[in-house]
Amino acid sequence: MVDFHCHLDLYPDLADAIGTCDDARTATLAVTTTPKAFRRNVQLASKSEFVRVGLGLHPQLVHERWNELPLFEALLPETRYVGEVGLDAGPQHYRTFERQTEAFRRILIACASHRDKILSVHSVRTASKVLDHVEELLPRGSGKVVLHWFSGSAAEASRAASLGCYFSINQAMFKSDRGVSLVKKLPPDRLLTETDGPFVEIEGHPIGPGDVLEVVRLLASTLGNEVDDMRRTVVKNLAALVSRT
Ligand code: MN
Repeated sequence: MVDFHCHLDLYPDLADAIGTCDDARTATLAVTTTPKAFRRNVQLASKSEFVRVGLGLHPQLVHERWNELPLFEALLPETRYVGEVGLDAGPQHYRTFERQTEAFRRILIACASHRDKILSVHSVRTASKVLDHVEELLPRGSGKVVLHWFSGSAAEASRAASLGCYFSINQAMFKSDRGVSLVKKLPPDRLLTETDGPFVEIEGHPIGPGDVLEVVRLLASTLGNEVDDMRRTVVKNLAALVSRT
């Protein structure tokens, strides 16, 4: 299975969280929220068969971690995966929006110059703006974008798909009718799964690292597929995403 957005280092024991993903044979993108967290994740995941580490600077932390942008740029050659990055215009973060935008644009420019990076992107209340920056600075062929927990409109989703974006879907997205109807409109060959652990909770407890079986079931029933066919589709989509052709 595939968990393309999980904060393994926000669980109590990072090594244990990595082991859980390996034992389950779940291909996992361990996203990070600050550049300073990257190396420890890489060290602990160095022997992992299934875990890859993203270099991140979370939009909600850009304001206080602005001084880590040069570190982000220095570490970028060490990884193909970038995340969590993006924009957040929710009520608590709107006032840092200019800074966020400047950081996100610098990150996209750096990724485009290295080429072939794969980004896990946060886009709370900013889908159109995120897509504007991606279209301008990371056009098709210079990198790939996976929109994590996408909550934009159907029109924005279709624009994202035409720009080549993938979508990583978590089980919390099925809690609203709007989320379910959006998922139905996404191109099946662009779907990945994610936990966004430990932020997504199940009955008051954080979802486990790599625990994507339920979202695969929800996707299958929403799209009218068999669970194992859905699982295989997501694995195939991941293979296409990471292929270098
Ligand atoms: Mn996240």
